[in-house]
Amino acid sequence: MVVTRFAPSPTGYLHIGGLRTALFSYLWARKNGGKFVLRIEDTDKARNSEEAAQKILQAFTWLGLSSDEEIVYQSQRDDIYRKYIQQLLDENKAYYCYMTKEELDALREEQQAKKERPRYDGRYRDFSGTPPKGVEPVIRIKAPTSGTITVHDGIKGSIEFKVEDMLDDFIIARSDGSPTYNFVVAVDDALMGITDVIRGDDHLSNTPKQIVVYNALGFEVPKFYHVPMIHNAQGKKLSKRDGATDVMEYKKMGYLPEALLNFLVRLGWSHGDQEIFSLEEMVSLFDPSDINRSASIYNVEKLDWLNAHYIKNSSNERIERLLEEDFGFILSSHDKKEVLLDALKERAKTLKDIVDMAQEILNPPSQYDPKAVKKAFKADAKEILEDFKNTLAQKESLHLPVDYHDVMEEVVQKRQIGFGKIGQPLRVSLLGKLGGPGLDVVMTVIGKEETIARIDKALREL
Ligand code: GLU
Repeated sequence: MVVTRFAPSPTGYLHIGGLRTALFSYLWARKNGGKFVLRIEDTDKARNSEEAAQKILQAFTWLGLSSDEEIVYQSQRDDIYRKYIQQLLDENKAYYCYMTKEELDALREEQQAKKERPRYDGRYRDFSGTPPKGVEPVIRIKAPTSGTITVHDGIKGSIEFKVEDMLDDFIIARSDGSPTYNFVVAVDDALMGITDVIRGDDHLSNTPKQIVVYNALGFEVPKFYHVPMIHNAQGKKLSKRDGATDVMEYKKMGYLPEALLNFLVRLGWSHGDQEIFSLEEMVSLFDPSDINRSASIYNVEKLDWLNAHYIKNSSNERIERLLEEDFGFILSSHDKKEVLLDALKERAKTLKDIVDMAQEILNPPSQYDPKAVKKAFKADAKEILEDFKNTLAQKESLHLPVDYHDVMEEVVQKRQIGFGKIGQPLRVSLLGKLGGPGLDVVMTVIGKEETIARIDKALREL
């Protein structure tokens, strides 16, 4: 069975790069009928917070990605780590090291002077004398001293790390007994039965160390997939300046979860030139070995395009609920809300756009854009507007956009003018600017009385 995991450190929010590897892990487990598990890596008490962990879990709830097993918290597993550290000590695969900070510093200086890579020199590896007094020892693992460690990576191929270049007997427990990062990750992945580790390639240099731990404990080494980073258009690592990196910011900006997931799955993975993927399709098509070897480029226009697609295809009920939940924008009592939502869904890139456009329609314009006024109110514009208003005033049973359209049509025919001649001044009167959704929709939503009131005000003030 394929078991994957996502293992965030709760130092802040859920980063979209992290979410992407979580999604890949989730899809791969689903595709194989396996399991996806969340593990919160909260051993660093100074940097981790319960609040950050909750935020990360909220993001998962929003996206609809859930852990198939109880969420694992590293902070609750100290006994387990200590047990395995003891096992390594008992088997002589790890040892106490009594080097003081001063000794370590001296060693490092010596190595630097000789232009050597700073590394622990193994002086306590086979120590059998009397330990020096007054030093709380750390525990180091016996790593190989020569040769290579090969990471078989499902994306990058086999990568050989020369022990000499990057490894020493690294610390697995600090002097206070607390286990270190690479040790706990390897122990957890093994005990949780993780078969496929999919994570960012910023972790690649940790992998040989984790393999040392697996080997020392006799655990099977999982498959690894190190996913290249997300870059900005300039080829640099994505930063906050390039767009939001906090997943929940996307919710606040009015993106739908399926749009964000669809966007992220395409960052670094593709299936022909298909752009739109439902979650079911992602599950059936995804394979981590198809992930690109090079970095992917973040492109917010693509996200907007996908979001517009998913908004358009969402039911009005859902959109109405999200507008209320996420933006406090309540439409429930509006009798023409269906007409409004049908029209705005076609034009919006985000839910926030819908709120902004709806407000522009529902509230009378607080000011008129001078450029639009200049353009729209030429020659006999006011006369035409007056004519339209009077024609409209006589009509009964105006319910649908087509009813309003017919009134405009009637005036256009009668006066033998183009639609723009009436459309432009009417638009400025109703919305204060040119642009925006169809006037027939605007009039239907605000109704006949309000339409006339706005025209009257424009006739008075412009
Ligand atoms: N906790 C690590 C992080 O947040 C991930 C560890 C891993 O995936 O192995 O970057």
